[in-house]
Amino acid sequence: MKRFLRYINPLDHLGDTQYSFIFPLVTNVTLCILSEIFAYGIAKNPMIVGVYIIFLNVAFIIYFTFRDGVVGGFVTTIITVLYYFYIIQTRHYKGQELSSGIETTFFLTIIYLLLASIIGWLKQTIDRLIEREANEKKHLETIIQQLPVGILITDEKAKLTRRNKQADAILGIKIPIGFSFGKDTLIEEKIDAKPILPTKAPLLKALHTGKPVIGKEYTYTRNDKKILALRVSSAPIHNKKKKIIAAVSIITDITHQKELERQKDDFLSLASHELKTPLTSLKMFIDLQKNQLKKKEINKLTYYNQRIADQTDKLKELVNDLLSVSRIQTGKLKFNNESFDITDVIVDTVEGLQATAANHTIQIIDKKKYIVKGDKYRIYQVLVNLISNAIKYSPNGKKIVVRTEKIKQNLVISVQDFGIGISKEQQGKIFNKLYQVSDSTERTFPGLGLGLYISKEIIVRHKGKIWVESRKDKGSTFFFTLPLSK
Ligand code: ADP
Repeated sequence: MKRFLRYINPLDHLGDTQYSFIFPLVTNVTLCILSEIFAYGIAKNPMIVGVYIIFLNVAFIIYFTFRDGVVGGFVTTIITVLYYFYIIQTRHYKGQELSSGIETTFFLTIIYLLLASIIGWLKQTIDRLIEREANEKKHLETIIQQLPVGILITDEKAKLTRRNKQADAILGIKIPIGFSFGKDTLIEEKIDAKPILPTKAPLLKALHTGKPVIGKEYTYTRNDKKILALRVSSAPIHNKKKKIIAAVSIITDITHQKELERQKDDFLSLASHELKTPLTSLKMFIDLQKNQLKKKEINKLTYYNQRIADQTDKLKELVNDLLSVSRIQTGKLKFNNESFDITDVIVDTVEGLQATAANHTIQIIDKKKYIVKGDKYRIYQVLVNLISNAIKYSPNGKKIVVRTEKIKQNLVISVQDFGIGISKEQQGKIFNKLYQVSDSTERTFPGLGLGLYISKEIIVRHKGKIWVESRKDKGSTFFFTLPLSK
């Protein structure tokens, strides 16, 4: 019945003129036949319907013009005119009650043209209104689809009416339209026997209380087993009479953000630990020094003095690294641009570090003078990072080799050790901020995972390159290039 009513609704077919002549034709012919049956068969008076059917047809002209456009109205007019001639022929009118066939045809054609233009204008206006509404709907749909967050919209009974692609992508499921958040369960929700659809609770709460639910955070296990951190906000939508007519849920994937927060927390605890270690040693050696001062044992005093100096250097390096990272991040790391002999810097660095590395011999191959352009102090920082890493990560290796080699307009500087090495898989990651290679065994080497990141930033700013060649358990060679001064 509903379908039938929809079918005969004149506005429901606006603009759809594909079969516009069939329905008016069939309806009009049926109507004419029925009226003939009634006039001749039932009422037994051929005069009884006569011209009244023509007025009914005028109503039909209006209806079909609305329903099926101009074609529908035209079909109805033709049938009406034909039927009128048929009546004149069969009923043998003498012309008293009716005007002649030609006048009537003329009269009906004028009516048709008048009606068709009024209705055509009306139809155009309505078409335009409908088109505008459709455009607005499309516009809204485009916005919803392109928002960078997942969106689910339900009706007032929590039945899904609309969702965007981001919602599908984040949740990893296409929740079917019509799905009731209050009653239905998705098969996917049964994973591990716990509900996994995070939007459900905030949506239902928003509908139930009529108040928005803001920024609820959930851990969500997607079908592909990926664990996501999601932030969900839901809000009821009210109409002008303050009645709830819908609800919307906005889903944001905050997995990356949460991971950064976790890294920051890890970094803070690691940094405090790293700063505490040399401080504790410092305190210990100062106490020991005090005791030795009382006993006046000069030999031991010199030894403790050296340890205090070493630990102070370590602290200085750590604080320097922390400062450099924050400056890199805020773009405030300043660079001097001077010409200097890199071999001098290498020799100074090696001498300084050799003093603290009693178990290693640091060898320099090629002590020729090479003038490069850049920031002397920053390059020194890179060399300290690479050589102290070489010492740190070769606990059993005795030798470290520092080489310089001129290739075209560049100088390639390398630091080679014979230590623990780095697997192929890790080699691409060690230049990332805070990255440290961790084996299944507990990490035994101190550090913050910043040295190589800072070194890379410094070398890139000097228009150079930095890379590593390494084999697990055989040792590593770190290379970097600097443009030679002309
Ligand atoms: P860290 O303070 O941890 O040494 P770096 O940024 O200097 O930080 O180095 C990042 C990671 O790269 C280190 O944690 C270590 O796992 C690895 N690495 C660096 N240099 C070497 C090396 N010479 N041999 C082996 N592994 C190294």
